[in-house]
Amino acid sequence: MRVYNFSAGPAVLPEEVLREAAAEMLDYNGTGMSVMEMSHRSKPFEEIIETAEQDLRDLLQIPDNYKVLFLQGGAHQQFAAVPLNLMKNRVGNYIITGQWAKRAWKEASKYGKSVALASSEDKTFSYIPDCSDLPIDEDADYVYICENNTIYGTKFHELPNTKGKILVSDVSSCFLSEPMDVEKYGLIYGGVQKNIGPAGVVIAIIREDLLTDDVLPETPTILQYKIQADAGSLYNTPPCYGIYICGKVFKWLKKQGGLEAMKEKNERKAKILYDFLDNSKLFHGTVAPKDRSLMNVPFVTGDKEMDALFVKEADAAGFVNLKGHRSVGGMRASIYNAMPEEGVAKLVEFMKEFEAKYGKPEA
Ligand SMILES: *Cc1c(COP(=O)(O)O)cnc(C)c1O
Repeated sequence: MRVYNFSAGPAVLPEEVLREAAAEMLDYNGTGMSVMEMSHRSKPFEEIIETAEQDLRDLLQIPDNYKVLFLQGGAHQQFAAVPLNLMKNRVGNYIITGQWAKRAWKEASKYGKSVALASSEDKTFSYIPDCSDLPIDEDADYVYICENNTIYGTKFHELPNTKGKILVSDVSSCFLSEPMDVEKYGLIYGGVQKNIGPAGVVIAIIREDLLTDDVLPETPTILQYKIQADAGSLYNTPPCYGIYICGKVFKWLKKQGGLEAMKEKNERKAKILYDFLDNSKLFHGTVAPKDRSLMNVPFVTGDKEMDALFVKEADAAGFVNLKGHRSVGGMRASIYNAMPEEGVAKLVEFMKEFEAKYGKPEA
């Protein structure tokens, strides 16, 4: 039996995609072998990666002057690749809205001046700071954000005013959850294990003029975006099987009606949960309402033991991975694209029952 999996990542994938992959496991499309056993330079794989790229381009309406790269190394590798490739003046400007942005900021300080322009750490990253008029460095090479903060459940609903500087965004946990205006960014990247596919693939979408040989001299060859772009993501062996699953998820998203339709579905799903949290006497959301994420919904009861009891009983009832990140505690429901609306509705039903059983009677 499949459970309702609220994991923040690796996370739930569409059942239809998993079934298809299972059916093709031993013999992909008459090749007599699994995609795992196939040369990355073979015709069938060439078709897999090219189709995946085209479908992603269709979904996000990626302009022709942007390259799509399928890379390895997780988001953490991009924390280094971004400064190595983009620092010309060795100045990076960061907006610190959570642990992932903070790690990226710290990593960049190995290579140059890494400036925190704004931070929401004063209130445990429960909001997005005002980014309309930041003190951006004159010689900043880029402004960096983590667009959806997986751990804290916040999202930039408005992009920062970068005052003409290149915007770099980590979209790992909101990738393909709604449409994006790619042209507003110089570089978008995301690990796929949150909303798109299995761990091991990172997708980077980068504007062509940023693909140069003018990178920091210490840049490892494998991390140079231009090298990867010139080789069509096949400079070395890519994460072939992961790319194949991503490709299937792109087809699934197209079948769902594309990203406008996903946005509507995701808004409907999140509303079920937020409406409940806003009215519950036992459970409370932890995020400033205007900055709420559609993908990650943290909540607490205010009592650690009650939180632990909830996580335990929910797990036994088939609602799994609801424990909050170890750095914040409480609970977190990640409700990515592949989480059906029914899963969220049933979770809320379960929370209501839990509240009726354990909530304090009204005074
Ligand atoms: C999960 C996550 C990361 C870390 O990803 P790794 O692939 O483990 O390096 C970074 N940024 C965001 C927004 C994430 O959700």
